[in-house]
Amino acid sequence: MKILLAGGAGFIGSHTVVELIQAGHEPVVVDNLYNSNRKVFERLKAITGKDVCFYEADVCDAQAMDDIFAREHFDAVIQFAGYKAVPESVRESVKYYRNNLDTTLTLLECMQRHGVTRIVFSSSATVYGPIEESPLVETMPSAGPTNPYAWSKYMNEVILRDAVVSNPGWSVALLRYFNPIGAHESGLIGENPLGIPNNLMPYVTQVAVGKLPHLNINGTDFPTPDGTGVRDYIHVVDLARGHVAACDYLFDHTGCEVINLGTGVGYSVMDVVNTFERVNELTLEKVIAPRRPGDMASYYSDPTKAKNLLGWQTEKTLDDMCRDSWRWQKNNPNGYED
Ligand code: NAD
Ligand code: UDP
Repeated sequence: MKILLAGGAGFIGSHTVVELIQAGHEPVVVDNLYNSNRKVFERLKAITGKDVCFYEADVCDAQAMDDIFAREHFDAVIQFAGYKAVPESVRESVKYYRNNLDTTLTLLECMQRHGVTRIVFSSSATVYGPIEESPLVETMPSAGPTNPYAWSKYMNEVILRDAVVSNPGWSVALLRYFNPIGAHESGLIGENPLGIPNNLMPYVTQVAVGKLPHLNINGTDFPTPDGTGVRDYIHVVDLARGHVAACDYLFDHTGCEVINLGTGVGYSVMDVVNTFERVNELTLEKVIAPRRPGDMASYYSDPTKAKNLLGWQTEKTLDDMCRDSWRWQKNNPNGYED
């Protein structure tokens, strides 16, 4: 299948490029490089031996996207393009709603004009909202998103559900990712956050490489076995393979499915820190800090639906995630910058 990866130069998209090629598909990337770097394509060539087709364009640019759709004749679309920093989405909500909705709406209009019927959407576990009752199952109603980023994912899900009603031959997968970490085992591609990271693993790796002085352990009084927050960390390569499975599934189904992509296992902040220190044989500077406002104690998936529907499940361990995250950061202290 020839598959458009909108936002495919980023963290999850670049790993999905590798897995699609290895599964015999033909990825085509469109990205405006807002949060990515064109050097990723040299790295992708080193990993796959292939020149990946790349268009530098804004996915909200309907004319540019029309031209690309007319030329490429896609079999399916994966929609990664969007902004993803939660605190920034609170400060700059209009910018977030504009980009995160416009990218999808522009793609849907192009799909209608060019007869493309399959789309995979990067949704997020954050759509479930504040539910203190893990594992989270797709049938649970949302408790209401708690920030503009999460609302933008929720709104995208509504738009895509309605698009299937209006276009009954379409097939849509709304993939709710849990906490993607790790990197390709080559150490050539990985996560490259703008500014100071918000998420745990990029923060840990930047402390380990000496770019940040210490790790804040945000909250040690949660009702969890060791008092620190529990999340469902998923290796980005497993997540990327979930997209390949979703594309294969969409090929002979119609309708819209919400699917969790997680491991089903929760690890605490201290589990991650201890594993990172053990497998990489180093010690992190740590400071006990207050809880972040609104943080849940425990948040992890029920991945049964992905297994039943897609025949997909995770294979990599927390040891793999910690080892691969560190290899990427150690080999590329400044990401794709020299
Ligand atoms: P990322 O920022 O690394 O990748 C997103 C890519 O989209 C970037 O390369 C960026 O340049 C591009 N982009 C943004 N707006 C664009 C536009 N208007 N036109 C063209 N390109 C545009 O993020 P990621 O971690 O790879 O996440 C991919 C998707 O998955 C995002 O939609 C994100 O919200 C979602 N998601 C991510 C996580 C996570 O923890 N990483 C969790 C849940 C959901
Ligand atoms: N966390 C932490 N220090 C940090 C960043 C995160 O202790 O510098 C904790 C956070 O409180 C949560 C877990 O790590 O319990 C995962 O946080 P992240 O932001 O990566 O994911 P999210 O909370 O959005 O699922």
